[in-house]
Amino acid sequence: VSAQPASLFESLDLSLLAARLKDWRGAPSSEQAVNELLVDTRDWRHFDVTEIERRLRADDAAVIAALELLHAEELPKQADSDFVRLFTDPLILKRLVWLALDADTTLPQTITVHGATLLSGLHFLRMALRWAQRFGQWTGGRRRALATLNVQHPFATVILRERPQEIALLLRVIEHCGIQVLTVDQTVPRVDLDAHIAELLGLPVEHAPEKQFLGELVETGGTRNSLFVVRAIGGVDGYDVRGLVGPDLGLIIDIGDREVSAAATAHIEELVIRIINEDTELSAEREGDGLKLRWANAQLEAEDLGRIIHSALKSQFVLGTISVSVIFDPLRIGSLRPSIYSYREERDNQLRRRSDENAPLIACRACRRYAPFGFCLVSPERPPCCGRSYDELATLAQLTTGLDQLVVERGVTQDRSRGRFVGADKLAALLSGSTVTRLHLHGLSESPQVVTAIPQCIAWVMDEVDLVGVVSADYAGRTPDGKTFHSLLTRAVGRQQPGIAGIAEEYVLSSRFLSGEGGLARVGWMNSELKARLKLRAEHILTENECTSLAGLKELLAAGGR
Ligand code: SF4
Repeated sequence: VSAQPASLFESLDLSLLAARLKDWRGAPSSEQAVNELLVDTRDWRHFDVTEIERRLRADDAAVIAALELLHAEELPKQADSDFVRLFTDPLILKRLVWLALDADTTLPQTITVHGATLLSGLHFLRMALRWAQRFGQWTGGRRRALATLNVQHPFATVILRERPQEIALLLRVIEHCGIQVLTVDQTVPRVDLDAHIAELLGLPVEHAPEKQFLGELVETGGTRNSLFVVRAIGGVDGYDVRGLVGPDLGLIIDIGDREVSAAATAHIEELVIRIINEDTELSAEREGDGLKLRWANAQLEAEDLGRIIHSALKSQFVLGTISVSVIFDPLRIGSLRPSIYSYREERDNQLRRRSDENAPLIACRACRRYAPFGFCLVSPERPPCCGRSYDELATLAQLTTGLDQLVVERGVTQDRSRGRFVGADKLAALLSGSTVTRLHLHGLSESPQVVTAIPQCIAWVMDEVDLVGVVSADYAGRTPDGKTFHSLLTRAVGRQQPGIAGIAEEYVLSSRFLSGEGGLARVGWMNSELKARLKLRAEHILTENECTSLAGLKELLAAGGR
């Protein structure tokens, strides 16, 4: 939205606006968010013009609602489903921003509305209201609740340089909704404006050090004799370096904290590689059994590698003992190989033996950036619906200072089959602002998990045939009962919706898959690509290749004796 039509300025003449509203003959639509959720002027034509004008003068929000109706053609079209699509980016959007200034700043991970015009601001306000309804459990009307939500979860923000007269009234409405309005520092030069705006919004700044790979690269590891492992077998906090930098590299990281299980170290290995790449001047890449390290600072010596890796790991993990051994001596690496192989074998066995019963439940609320009360409860047999791994979330919950993941004290088991625990219910109430007080880890019809915007698949109950369907996000077609992945997502996202749950592809293969609902045996339909990806031979699960309608599905089910 960029142009400011002259008619809009005329509309702020409230007598004229009242007369035009008296003549409005449009139909209610889902795009009239200000009318639907803040103040409804759609039937004011039943009042006389004087009364309409009196009402407009009494409430700034009513003026904005009237403008929404009268300038519908000039506003961007955005149905509820289009709005939900804005959140399905796996990067997880963090903010909704109205940049009400003349800058073409591009902000990462935001939905940005540009332009200091009334129409731009109206479009922004409509999205902010939709967000509050969709993700903030706000049901419309109650303005105080809306203001509280926006103050407690500042998702929408206005950035401006000054307050031109044209948008003064709209800004008042926006501020009454609790949406923050921030002013840029006029003295900041244009060249620094983007960084200044990002700072105002508290957007994360990447701190990854510049890797100076311009000069000659130094490289170690990646050979057949190299080894890399993280073990949970104790040691002395610090680092130890043996030999001079050479082609073979043994990097052995021992963690001494008793809380770290051998199974967890498998994921810590991945995290270590990420930390080396993001937080140090080294570049790390897994090659076979070992790691290849590269750097461009010729001044770095063998000793420095141990120091750099140890200090990066200490800054990221809340671990008392991290012992980093860097070994360049090929004979020494070779002598350690058998014990490292047997450690890995035992670790793989432990990973296979892990179940819901012997591994902690983890709550992830990374999606709270856009859904204040959204969270997932995950376990080894109920992996995260977005495709992240249980081990990643468990490691982040147990070993780092981040607050997005938490270990859940499960408490007394209420329902083993569906996976309901007293401790999990309490945490659910806490994380969801009491909108979810009962949660079934493996349930669907009753008290399923909250649906976030980024599930890999959706499982839903097909009421007409009393079966479960599973559809993946990459399936663009319709299900037999006429739904699409996106229509199911739009119906449930941001809330606990009985009969609909976001799930990971991997979960379909879990032995606990919807164990409270009849498991895989109750699945009657799945899109063909998903079924092929999962290598599911189950003949009772039909796909769009066998049936495209409910009647067809019923017929095939009857023929198959179901
Ligand atoms: S596990 Fe759930 S809350 Fe966490 S990032 Fe994935 S979808 Fe979001």
